[in-house]
Amino acid sequence: MRLVMASANPHKATEMSDVLRDAMPSAEVVPRPAHLGDVAEDGETLAHNALIKARFVCAAAGEPAIADDTGLEVDALGGAPGVYSARYAGPEADPVANVAKLLSALAHVPLAQRTARFRTVVAVVFDDGREVLAEGVVEGAIAQSPRGDQGFGYDPVFIPDEAAHLTFAEMSTDAKNRISHRGRALRALAEHL
Ligand code: IMP
Repeated sequence: MRLVMASANPHKATEMSDVLRDAMPSAEVVPRPAHLGDVAEDGETLAHNALIKARFVCAAAGEPAIADDTGLEVDALGGAPGVYSARYAGPEADPVANVAKLLSALAHVPLAQRTARFRTVVAVVFDDGREVLAEGVVEGAIAQSPRGDQGFGYDPVFIPDEAAHLTFAEMSTDAKNRISHRGRALRALAEHL
């Protein structure tokens, strides 16, 4: 089975290919065609956004496509930024600005109350119209300042409960994939498929 990747983010694409190589060895994951434009991610849920992206790429490429959408849910912020995580600090979707806004929103929140989770929904859309969805979650906390230079997005400030105080950005891709929201969503997807 060939699956066209909807994401143009190289970090995300590497994580997804690495997990799927183990979880679904029969799948050949191919990069998003370079000429494809962007599609507006204007859904109100992660599942809707993942489907918007996978449907768009499947229709354009004429073959099955895989997409994910991720949100960071911070308890002290009532679950924000959630589905709006990419554009938390504005429409430019600048990860440094997003992290800065998050740290400033939590400036007076003690570590014990900085609990949060990443949630990913992954969608595969087939050219015959079938659609398969799966979800993965990792629980953790938001650090008081950024640490580490691996990964992307909010990784420098997310400390997963299972990682002995390291942020995702202080872990190798393999170590992150073993416990991450995206790794879990993709392994659940492989089981469904
Ligand atoms: P999207 O799923 O690519 O739309 O991501 C939503 C937001 O979450 C963006 O700001 C991403 O940078 C961020 N994000 C997505 N996945 C991860 C991750 O694995 N670690 C850290 N940030 C992430």
